[in-house]
Amino acid sequence: VDRPLAAGSPAATLRVAQWLHAARRVTVLTGAGISTDSGIPDYRGPAGVWTRDPAAARMPSRADYLADAHVRMQAWRKRVVHPAFSAPPNAAHRALLALERTGRLVALLTQNIDGLHQRAGSDPRLVVELHGTLWQAECLGCGVRGPMPAVLRRVRSGDADPRCPDCGGLLSSATVGFGMALDPAVLARAVAAAETCEVFLVIGSSLSVQPVAGLCMNAVRAGARLVIVNGSPTPYDVLAAARVAQPIGDVLPGLIAAATGAAPSLC
Ligand SMILES: [Zn+2]
Repeated sequence: VDRPLAAGSPAATLRVAQWLHAARRVTVLTGAGISTDSGIPDYRGPAGVWTRDPAAARMPSRADYLADAHVRMQAWRKRVVHPAFSAPPNAAHRALLALERTGRLVALLTQNIDGLHQRAGSDPRLVVELHGTLWQAECLGCGVRGPMPAVLRRVRSGDADPRCPDCGGLLSSATVGFGMALDPAVLARAVAAAETCEVFLVIGSSLSVQPVAGLCMNAVRAGARLVIVNGSPTPYDVLAAARVAQPIGDVLPGLIAAATGAAPSLC
């Protein structure tokens, strides 16, 4: 068992690079913190949506959405202007693409709904979107899915509460709202990826949303080293072999470059 290293110390960063270099199987879990450099605010960070406006954390439930046209119209107005549709992938997304190209990446698990991993070039077959995606619309009646941009064009043209063209049912984004259950098949894929890696690398997640945060426990129990790259402490730091505390955009590209190039050393 490795002795835990001080969060953010150069020694911790070097050790993480060495572990990644030596590992043949790495599973990555990303959260909102990886997308803040792309201009998509997180929820719980220093400039997070809920940090600045705690009332915003009281999201309407699925029952509210089904029952109230005003709730749906407000949701569509937010989707139309959501930064995910214009935000560019950043250096951290590209660093994970570099990791993938070395053949070490088991899966890229993400809590994000912004689609930025795929837009950075990550293989969609490796990306597991635990909370769904904003890029797909879903009918709450018949379950049919289609591209979100086409539905948003309807909203911008004045269709404030768009309906399914097939069955007339209510449409929503293909995302998992707070308090909703994850797709069991998606969660099972994530658990399998957590339990078959040598390093479980968490990037930009406060690890406060279950059951996703619990994947850390799956990984550690199966023998993986848990590495957390996050600016603030998480409830899983006690299980981690190391936590890297520097800003993700500063530290991740160098960390991955060191891990995928020649054997990393201090000099
Ligand atoms: Zn339908």
